[in-house]
Amino acid sequence: MDSSFDLVVIGGGPGGYEAAIRAAQLGFKVAVIEKRLHNGKPALGGTCLNVGCIPSKALLESTHHYEWLQQSAKEHGIVADNVAMDVAGMHNRKNKVVSQLTEGVAGLLKGNGITWLQGAGKLLSGKRVEFTPLQLETIESLKVKVYSPKYVILATGSEPTAISSAVVDGHTIVDSTGALAFDTVPQRLAVIGAGVIGLELGSVWRRLGSAVTVLEAADTFMPMLDKMLAKDAFKTLQRQGLNIKLSSKVQSSKVVDGMAELTYVTAEGSVSEAFDKVIVCVGRRPYSHGLLAADCGLQCNNKGFIEVDQQCQTALPGVYAIGDLVPGPMLAHKAMEEGVMVAERMAGHAAQVNYNTIIGVIYTHPEIAWVGQSEEQAVANGHSVKSGQFAFAVNGRALAAGDSHGFVRFVADAVTDKILGMHVIGNGAGDLVHQGMIAMEFAGSIEDLQLMMFAHPTVSEVVHEAALAVDGRAIHAITRRKKN
Ligand code: FAD
Ligand code: NAD
Repeated sequence: MDSSFDLVVIGGGPGGYEAAIRAAQLGFKVAVIEKRLHNGKPALGGTCLNVGCIPSKALLESTHHYEWLQQSAKEHGIVADNVAMDVAGMHNRKNKVVSQLTEGVAGLLKGNGITWLQGAGKLLSGKRVEFTPLQLETIESLKVKVYSPKYVILATGSEPTAISSAVVDGHTIVDSTGALAFDTVPQRLAVIGAGVIGLELGSVWRRLGSAVTVLEAADTFMPMLDKMLAKDAFKTLQRQGLNIKLSSKVQSSKVVDGMAELTYVTAEGSVSEAFDKVIVCVGRRPYSHGLLAADCGLQCNNKGFIEVDQQCQTALPGVYAIGDLVPGPMLAHKAMEEGVMVAERMAGHAAQVNYNTIIGVIYTHPEIAWVGQSEEQAVANGHSVKSGQFAFAVNGRALAAGDSHGFVRFVADAVTDKILGMHVIGNGAGDLVHQGMIAMEFAGSIEDLQLMMFAHPTVSEVVHEAALAVDGRAIHAITRRKKN
């Protein structure tokens, strides 16, 4: 048995690799076990860097430029005739960005003296970890080894949820990974699930010319969003051409001659439609295949998650679990911060993730972003609520950019004035929302934001105006209510 490591992290995604780096900075001897192969090569970075956040954002960026050239360049006095797309070129660029980042993570591990064990990890009894190396032609077949570290972090992430009514075949019916790699633009594309992946990847292919139908089983669009935001997002995305059908549940699918025939049920009855490609994106589930030996002392709950406390400690002392493998939003930044928190707690620090200020961003155009509570949630949580919003439409910088759709909205406690939530739809919403997060982290009030000076001309002025609007005193608006 090998006890050369203080910490073994199983899973080299954003949660696992950040935990490893922070632990190494704190003086621990660390190994990361990662079994992923990307394009045939061992790869760090997990779902996020290889087949998630990064490749999706690379394609969103490229396709946004393509659409901008066609729809908006003229307005700026730019003649962009004969704009043509090169799907292979977009994929090449996406792949380069992915490689740069995953190789960067490998460099960071190496630079911090962390050992990357390429293969699968399994938690055994007595907090021991079994390592089975990847059987690669390029490296000598190594033997299975058992390590006995002081600490273990389980960070094995998640996988797409499957549905029996549309089984992924990897060609016509695909999951998000397949949808990041279509080599041609599907003429008719069905997206099952109007969630984050459906809206982002649906937008990618719509911008390139696909007729996109989004089939959503629920009768409400994005129920986690503030209602005003959800309403605007729904209308805006529909106007762009995403045909979002709520209350539409797929019953069955059949692939014939490379085309998928989907049968789905709506309020009006059953519909059958043929599509060139179908993306199944109905959520993700925690991934723990082969992770836990039967006698290791831990098991997953009935939803597949490993239960942890607020500091990501499992039921086994010295064994932590983080990221998509544990309950909570499945987001890279949440996984990263949990990893850092665990490393710091191992070193005796009093680190704590603030689960009330996790930002959500949907990287459509306009972006949709939020932090904290929606007005509906705040009311349900017993707050006496006041709120205010301000549109980008009268903001000088947004108009100069020719990108002025959307608004910033604050939800605050009417008694204490404390900021409870910030909700943004508009260009750069994912960055702007950090201002609300920082204010909330400092227990900020709406008055704090009202009293601050924002640079002119910037789109951040809309944040200021929205805070003023909460008390009916936005400057670039005609407010009839007289206030102090
Ligand atoms: P993962 O990133 O899934 O990493 C876990 C790693 O563990 C994997 O590489 C896996 O190979 C490895 N592993 C599993 N089992 C073993 C084992 N037994 N031994 C060794 N290794 C093992 N989140 C955002 O915050 N922003 C976004 O914009 C965003 N976009 C996304 C887009 C798409 C298309 C998808 C699918 C997801 C997106 N996400 C986004 C979610 C994000 O990718 C995840 O929340 C994040 O990757 C979770 O990190 P993690 O470290 O918990 O797990
Ligand atoms: P999601 O949970 O965001 O949305 C899934 C949607 O599918 C829901 O609206 C749900 O009602 C619907 N649905 C469920 N079963 C259905 C069915 N049988 N038929 C039709 N609709 C059905 O899940 P996702 O879009 O697959 O994304 C998975 C996770 O990945 C997200 O929860 C998020 O944590 C992460 N992610 C984040 C980002 C980001 O931060 N920008 C981007 C992509 C993915």
